[in-house]
Amino acid sequence: MNARVKNTTIQIDGSQGEGGGQILRTALSLSMLTGIPFELINIRAGRKKPGLMRQHLVCVQASQSISNAKTEGAELHSQKLYFQPQHVQAGTYDFQIGSAGSTILVLQTLLPVLMMQKQTSQISIHGGTHNPMAPTADFISHCFLPAIQRLGIHVDFKCERAGFFPIGAGQINATVYPWQHKMKFSGMNKGKLISSSGYAAALNIPSNIAERELDVLNQKLNLTEQKRLNFQGISQGNTAFVLLNYEQHQQVFTRLGEMKKSAETVAHELAKDVQAYIASDAVADEYLTDQLLLPLALGQGGEFTATIISQHAQTQAQIIQKFLDCEIRFEATGKNFKVSVQV
Ligand code: ATP
Repeated sequence: MNARVKNTTIQIDGSQGEGGGQILRTALSLSMLTGIPFELINIRAGRKKPGLMRQHLVCVQASQSISNAKTEGAELHSQKLYFQPQHVQAGTYDFQIGSAGSTILVLQTLLPVLMMQKQTSQISIHGGTHNPMAPTADFISHCFLPAIQRLGIHVDFKCERAGFFPIGAGQINATVYPWQHKMKFSGMNKGKLISSSGYAAALNIPSNIAERELDVLNQKLNLTEQKRLNFQGISQGNTAFVLLNYEQHQQVFTRLGEMKKSAETVAHELAKDVQAYIASDAVADEYLTDQLLLPLALGQGGEFTATIISQHAQTQAQIIQKFLDCEIRFEATGKNFKVSVQV
């Protein structure tokens, strides 16, 4: 990992590209890692309610507490933030979002810097575990963490209690081990499909919702396994996900139940995502693609194929390249895309 500049505050315009919360989270991760302060303006200018929402503020506060950072503008709804890290400390941490904001996005902000420390860290985060527009705890367990394990990154992860909007009250626990052997990522082919498993959970709502979803998923996808999961927690909610096990890759697709949307519709939409992915040759789906860029840039780089390059992934690449001396390239290859990260 080579920082691009030293001791100069990096200026970031949060309205660039997608203009969402990822710009802030990636800037926090990289600032803590490189020691470079940053000033972010127009925070989440691309969103209906711009500025720091609770989940984003907890990302700032959690980053502040593990890096003893000096901050200005770390307040709810703030559209400008100055962040100057001092000294990062591995350790035992417990963070409360205090709403159903995504615990997973907070974990993904802290993970890069914690895995680069010489000591192991234990971290608990309380809030939402199954949020729209964020990776769910299931996506992290069965897709993101297995993918980064191929880079040599080891994290034990457990969703202790599920948390759905609006109550949240979920809890995730993670043990982050020092990243000892950095490996180059090679994900050009996924190999043959070995198994496809469907899972569904209905928390504090009728359990037949999960059963109806599994029935549709089985009809549409001819699953090799299907299972209703018993989540613990006090909020109410529903999720269904499909885990595809290929010879060389593990991919998850998730959907959350919504008010006024039938269980059958939720499962049909999920099955469509899965079918489109199975029909493509690409390895990483839209979401894993943007999430893999930072771990690759911090390690030995690598390359992989992707179903689609979202604006989110492009913005992520821009922010990474502002802090780190690396080159991230996206190339169209006919049906799919090739992503390469050179360090
Ligand atoms: P904002 O509220 O500003 O939109 P945010 O903080 O909620 O921002 P985004 O900037 O939209 O977050 O980033 C969301 C992250 O969640 C991305 O890394 C994206 O890959 C991931 N994500 C979104 N939907 C899914 C999904 N269905 N499965 C896995 N990951 C997802």
